[in-house]
Amino acid sequence: MLTTLRRIVLEFSQDPKLQSALLRMVSQVKKAMNTDCCSVYLADYEKQNFLLMASDGLAEDSLGHTTIGFSEGLVGLVGQREEPLNIANAKYHPHFKHIPEVREEELNAFLGTPIIHRRKVLGILIIQQKEARNFTENEEAFLVTLSAQLAMVLVNAEARGILGQNQDNGKWLKQLTGVPGAPGVAMGNIVVSQPKADLDSVSLQKVYASAEQLKRYNEAVARTRIDFADMSVKLGDVITDASLDIFEVYKQLLDTANLGKDVTSKINSGWSAESALKLVIDTYIVKFESIEDAYLRERASDIRDLGNRVLFNLQQQARVDESLPDEFILAAQDVTASMLAEYQHLGLKGIISLSGSNNSHAAILSRALGLPAIMGVESVPLAQLHQQLAIVDGYSGDLFIAPDETLKREYQHLIAEEDALTVKVQQVVDLPAITQDGKAIELLLNAGLSTGFEHSLHAGAVGIGLYRTEIPFMNRSCFPSEQEQTLWYRHVLSAFPKQTVTMRTLDVGGDKSLPYFPIVEENPFLGWRGIRITLDHPEIFLLQVRAMIKANHGQNNLEIMLPMISSVSEVDDAIRLINQAYYELSSELPEQEGKLPRPRIGIMLEVPGVIFQLKELARRVDFFSVGSNDLTQYLLAVDRNNARVASLYDGYHPAVLRALKTIADESGKYMVPLSLCGELASDPGGAILLLAMGYDKLSMNPHNVARIKWVIRHIDFQRAKVILAHALSLETAKQVHGYLNEQLELVGLGGFVRAGM
Ligand code: PEP
Ligand code: MG
Repeated sequence: MLTTLRRIVLEFSQDPKLQSALLRMVSQVKKAMNTDCCSVYLADYEKQNFLLMASDGLAEDSLGHTTIGFSEGLVGLVGQREEPLNIANAKYHPHFKHIPEVREEELNAFLGTPIIHRRKVLGILIIQQKEARNFTENEEAFLVTLSAQLAMVLVNAEARGILGQNQDNGKWLKQLTGVPGAPGVAMGNIVVSQPKADLDSVSLQKVYASAEQLKRYNEAVARTRIDFADMSVKLGDVITDASLDIFEVYKQLLDTANLGKDVTSKINSGWSAESALKLVIDTYIVKFESIEDAYLRERASDIRDLGNRVLFNLQQQARVDESLPDEFILAAQDVTASMLAEYQHLGLKGIISLSGSNNSHAAILSRALGLPAIMGVESVPLAQLHQQLAIVDGYSGDLFIAPDETLKREYQHLIAEEDALTVKVQQVVDLPAITQDGKAIELLLNAGLSTGFEHSLHAGAVGIGLYRTEIPFMNRSCFPSEQEQTLWYRHVLSAFPKQTVTMRTLDVGGDKSLPYFPIVEENPFLGWRGIRITLDHPEIFLLQVRAMIKANHGQNNLEIMLPMISSVSEVDDAIRLINQAYYELSSELPEQEGKLPRPRIGIMLEVPGVIFQLKELARRVDFFSVGSNDLTQYLLAVDRNNARVASLYDGYHPAVLRALKTIADESGKYMVPLSLCGELASDPGGAILLLAMGYDKLSMNPHNVARIKWVIRHIDFQRAKVILAHALSLETAKQVHGYLNEQLELVGLGGFVRAGM
């Protein structure tokens, strides 16, 4: 049954036309389940009804016409209850609605399951039978499983439909929605970056250019053969056994008599080379996976590998052919920090990332660069986005493809207003962050995520509150030496000679990995991360703090900050190592060079457990800095990278706000200077609440310093305290958002949370 289910889903996902995909699917289900009828209805939220899209068993002329209201009949009931409905004789059910045109008089048994994606009912899948009986538990389980899988491909098909339709009539249609990743609005042509060849991300396209596509395919195959020859020569030096035969098998598979024949025939029927390859490889995989013999079954992964290699060469050709437009929006499956580094100076205006969420490091970096970003736009066929004109609304998470003139004008207006706001806030860039009734707060910079920080010098901050040291460790093939690190850190410390620079020790693990130090874990955010790694590897930690302390010689503006602290023993161990590095270096220093400055040491408060150990921690360190990104993630048990749970990740959740307030109160009590360096600090509402809670410093990306300064300078501290008191009494994050937006609007700061002034 599992194979049948997979085949149905696979074939459904491979059909570029929704209508024919649904028709084929209902016939397959009817046959597999040995029933008399299978139908699918899709929801239309504008019209508030379900439309009968496909059926094998109901009257053909009702397909695409018959509708049934959201609260009507058995179909409506399945949608409302959001659960399967299994009835022996539908006609006797009180909700049954007779629709003569579908001609279902002879059908008695009814089993309907909702097709749900992210809590939204997309449609209803139904099987019916003449015999009046209840469907078995197994039948019900099959239909539920199929509906759940269909939901995912249906969303994809819907998106494909949107884009396909849009090419035909040139009109903008329904927008796609993701998670707002970085505020702002951008308009431009999309450039798709395909970091690694992956057949799963190829979306099917018919191009009807067989000769050209065949040429591309044959060239890619020829290139792949050369790659295999190279690989067997290279590996031949190290391996001499039969494992190298796999390359021979690959080469044979590529022959025109095997895979090649099928791909060619698909190309001849109009498919693009990539699509043809995907169709054929997918079919081979399913065939191999259903073979009894374990050895042959395993070969499915070889076929996938082979397909991805040919695809890689196809995509390389595509890449060579094209140059970047002057201004563009970057789209990728997973936008990485290195992609942003590569494109940021080349006209990059906005970001679309299919995976990730609002606190992935790519989103944080986009905010740092002032680039609007939408994350987690799942189920979009990436390749079809390429070269399309798009509007990225980073406030709402809306993505419009090929917008019409009216929408373009509307957004051009908003973009102009945004630009005007950016210019306006520059008026206060060099003024202190002080409220109208005289309460001051220090605004600091988060730096280190991108290599060029020179522009940060003019951001209007009074120091660096968080220097992330991970990036220089990432773009290389081995750990950097003490000497290299000393040079980098000196470069940073000397760029801000009169300001304090808080450098965080290496915080890898979680979603940040080093290519030369792979960590494979089931649950990386709860695993070996931050201080846990560096304490287990004192040689790495010592090298880094030695480099920092050396770089600080003659500068004296360094503070060292420890990430991911969860217990006092970690602080004790880390301080012992820092002391060791300090005393070793002091003893190595020639007397005439003076005394080495001893940096202040602080910790990040980002693991919720520390909230209950603040007294003990306060005795050990010079300052606290709240990492609200991780604190939110761990307090709410929501992966900050996972788009599926993005709506649960919220810095305005009452639990987060109350935790932040407790931290502020306790730090005040123990007289430990307190800052916050998570993304909440750069949110206007967040900044007002943190100011009122008593945070001494807020650290944020360069792009936001002037904005937040403007907000602080246009609010009254007493008013902020009233706002805080009310916000803390609210019960849900939604209420807090609504209330803060209302308050910002009231003081004339509405333009900071939504495009437009
Ligand atoms: C945080 O967790 O809030 C933080 C500032 O650190 P990072 O985002 O680098 O984990
Ligand atoms: Mg963190």
